[in-house]
Amino acid sequence: MTVGIVGAGITGLALAHYCRERGVDAVAFEASAEPGGVIRSTRVDGRVLEHGPQRTRLTPEIEGLVADCDLDDALLTADTDLPLYVYADGRLRRVPFSPRAFLSTDLLSARGKLRMLAEPLTDGARDDETAADYFVRKFGREAYHNLVEPLFGGIYGSDPAEMPGKYALRTIRKMERSGSLVRAAVNRRLEGKERQPPVSFVEGMAQLPRALYERNADRVELETPVERVSADGSGYRLDTADGSRRVERVVLTTRSDVAAGLLADVDPGSARALRRLYYNPLAYVHLVSDAEPDGYGYQVRHDEPLHTLGVTWNASLFDRDGVYTCFLGGMENPGLVDRPADELGRIAREEFEAVLGASAEVVNVTRHPRGIPAYDGSWTAMEDVDTPEGITLATNYTGRMGVPARIREAKRLAESFAADRDAAEPVAHRSD
Ligand SMILES: Cc1cc2nc3c(=O)[nH]c(=O)nc-3n(C[C@H](O)[C@H](O)[C@H](O)COP(=O)(O)OP(=O)(O)OC[C@H]3O[C@@H](n4cnc5c(N)ncnc54)[C@H](O)[C@@H]3O)c2cc1C
Repeated sequence: MTVGIVGAGITGLALAHYCRERGVDAVAFEASAEPGGVIRSTRVDGRVLEHGPQRTRLTPEIEGLVADCDLDDALLTADTDLPLYVYADGRLRRVPFSPRAFLSTDLLSARGKLRMLAEPLTDGARDDETAADYFVRKFGREAYHNLVEPLFGGIYGSDPAEMPGKYALRTIRKMERSGSLVRAAVNRRLEGKERQPPVSFVEGMAQLPRALYERNADRVELETPVERVSADGSGYRLDTADGSRRVERVVLTTRSDVAAGLLADVDPGSARALRRLYYNPLAYVHLVSDAEPDGYGYQVRHDEPLHTLGVTWNASLFDRDGVYTCFLGGMENPGLVDRPADELGRIAREEFEAVLGASAEVVNVTRHPRGIPAYDGSWTAMEDVDTPEGITLATNYTGRMGVPARIREAKRLAESFAADRDAAEPVAHRSD
């Protein structure tokens, strides 16, 4: 059995790697000359800039990949106790992550705190509500406004009031199984999951996909976009400019518009639905400053008079030589991303200087016209996505978005392919 993987971002690369570990034949085709997909890191004047994810968590799977790729010496680990802030009512306010911090935080009034503590008495998620309705019902308006909306909405650059709970709250729904979100959060802390530190690498996040590519280069064809997927007996054919390859299984890891184009012949219904999914445009402005605040960074509350959505303090997280990454655009201001680079740079710099009271210099602007899956109303289209047997969508819009989740999904898929292979070829495999 051969698995044909379309895309060598982190999902495709991890899948190729785990398939090799399990003796499953696999080949990944990547359109770009570089592996890694949206994970991209560069050096500008000696400083590492992240153009995609700024960090990941050190989950057991990522620890395993770090060991497989001999990256232990390159791993950078941030302090789990670093503070995170919300910019609200004109200043940075620390997000409370412990009972003590909860009691003393100025992000909530006494009444707001009491209302939040009533969460275990509230009902679970309903299919017909938005993420905003759900969080207001669970935690009250004040906690929603000052904490949940900037932090949860900030992950996606989305407005939770536009996010149907059915799609946007899948992880939360799992947490709810323990009866209460507060209890689930406490359990996660006790199990140590909250202690998995944020990590990156000396050469930036892209060092992981690059190392995975190097380990599996014989199974990854760069600069080879797949142009078409078509049925071929019990399997499929993947057409590229270099020819066509027959595979038994297809895994698509590409953005939804690309996946739609590839599925147009073999599954027109899913293709039509995938074309409807909306992504939030984002712009990243990299600044250099000697501000030296300590922490992860901040998210800006929705009603503050700033264009900035949030800022990651790479300098503090990973000692990145004065680097700060500002995020602009998102669902709130999608048109902003199309403005000239010098205007985006000026906005980010001026707002950063006003918030932190320290001067900064713009070193780079990166645009993501189709940045992050919005999980907005367009996600109802997912009801019409039902790919034929043998074709799997392993993507950050069908599954969870974070790097750890992408890697976990790749591992689960490789395990299921190995099990299918063993079921189909029990004798042949036993004699290996
Ligand atoms: C701006 C941004 C910031 C993020 N920040 C974080 C963060 O801080 N922490 C975190 O954990 N997660 C973050 N995420 C989420 C996470 O980085 C992504 O979900 C994950 O990296 C996606 O990986 P992937 O391999 O599934 O998809 P992609 O990285 O999109 O990979 C798909 C690959 O398919 C290739 N491709 C496209 N068309 C074709 C074709 N026709 N044939 C062959 N190949 C093709 C593309 O070139 C690409 O390499 C962020 C995502 C974005 C976009």
